[in-house]
Amino acid sequence: MRAMRLLSGAADDASLAHDVAAVGVADAVVVMMDSSGRELTRVRDASVPPGVPPQPDQVIRNLTRPALQRALYAALPPGTVVCGAAFAAAKPLPDGRVEVRFEAAAGEAPPEAAVVDVLVGADGIRSSVRSQLEKMGAPPRRPVYSGYRYYRGLVDLEKLGGADAWVASLGGTNNRIIYGASETCMLYQVSPTHASFARYCPAPEGSSRGVSPAEAKQHLMELCKGYPYPAPQMAEALEGGAIHLGELWSMPPSEEVWGAGCITLAGDAAHAVLPTLGQGAGQGVEDAVTLAITLHRAAASKAAAASGGGGAANAACRLSPAEVEAALRQYEAERGPHVQRVYHFSTSAFRSGVGESWLGRLRRNWQYRLMPAWLMKKATAWLTECTFAWDEAPPAAAAVAATA
Ligand SMILES: Cc1cc2nc3c(=O)[nH]c(=O)nc-3n(C[C@H](O)[C@H](O)[C@H](O)COP(=O)(O)OP(=O)(O)OC[C@H]3O[C@@H](n4cnc5c(N)ncnc54)[C@H](O)[C@@H]3O)c2cc1C
Repeated sequence: MRAMRLLSGAADDASLAHDVAAVGVADAVVVMMDSSGRELTRVRDASVPPGVPPQPDQVIRNLTRPALQRALYAALPPGTVVCGAAFAAAKPLPDGRVEVRFEAAAGEAPPEAAVVDVLVGADGIRSSVRSQLEKMGAPPRRPVYSGYRYYRGLVDLEKLGGADAWVASLGGTNNRIIYGASETCMLYQVSPTHASFARYCPAPEGSSRGVSPAEAKQHLMELCKGYPYPAPQMAEALEGGAIHLGELWSMPPSEEVWGAGCITLAGDAAHAVLPTLGQGAGQGVEDAVTLAITLHRAAASKAAAASGGGGAANAACRLSPAEVEAALRQYEAERGPHVQRVYHFSTSAFRSGVGESWLGRLRRNWQYRLMPAWLMKKATAWLTECTFAWDEAPPAAAAVAATA
């Protein structure tokens, strides 16, 4: 939701947030239950009265990754995104810019190296750009295995009688989080026709490799046996080949800035969280928008200084490598405390959610049953609050200018 708020400011007419919202499904009420089917709590967005269509940034929107990518690609000028070349290595040049080399496809010559003003490694939890930064002297950071594997897939709701019937069977809601013993099951509608289904269970590291689609389907069916509706039915509706099986890893954010020179990181490459709070992709979007705003402010501040402070704050202005570097460190310093907090909150929510001990499950269930929804909302409000805007006065204009 915080990411949606940021996207709302990314275009004058707020079209980007509307475009993203249009391809997703609103989740105004989240229903949590235990594995016996007893409802523990439901969290409603009280600010949206029932029956009133919510604004894009008022409620959680569920959407698939390809749908998000398509909406974001469509907002970019044609030719902005070039696919098909994997990052291989980067080298800072004496003038501060960065030379980037790419991997050669099998049997082909490597693509030509590129010299860039900024390199943003958004290449996931096993980031090659992060490895490159480590070779350049950054402290090494390693992903941490949670001890859990996931099964997940997209269920065609036609197989469950159609989306309307499915929503009606869930009492007019379109999601469930089901807490078991050392297990969690999550299902939520992500498009007019499909729902996402995910199941976490303990597994030794490495044991998820080499599992055939048929075995994955069988495991999933066994895991969901005895679970409340619609978990077993959704497991049954998934084809074996459509089940993604993997391990849940996280990566703690650095306490310091995480880049060097004109190289930085964004998304899981910088900080990968466990998925309980559904914050991973949103943090990546927040990173990207924060980075864009920080660079924009640095350029606006330079333009304003060049024109004597009068009226040219939005004029195009090219930053020097030193100014780019200062803006990147500012972005990392700004994001660091927030992603640290999200990381620790997601980790503790994951541990208490899966309920590894009898006492832990008792505490979890009673906590959800007794905690008033308003208190739960209040405790998590910081995840969705956002006051960052493109047109704010640059708070650190002096610092940016001083590095010029
Ligand atoms: C089971 C599960 C459930 C989840 N549920 C949610 C959820 O409900 N909500 C949520 O917000 N998040 C969720 N997440 C987390 C979310 O998937 C990640 O946080 C998000 O995908 C991170 O995005 P990213 O772009 O940083 O990295 P990635 O999605 O990992 O993308 C990295 C990209 O970089 C590319 N790449 C890698 N190496 C190179 C290279 N050398 N050169 C060029 N390209 C390269 C990859 O091909 C990939 O396309 C979940 C994760 C899991 C495992």
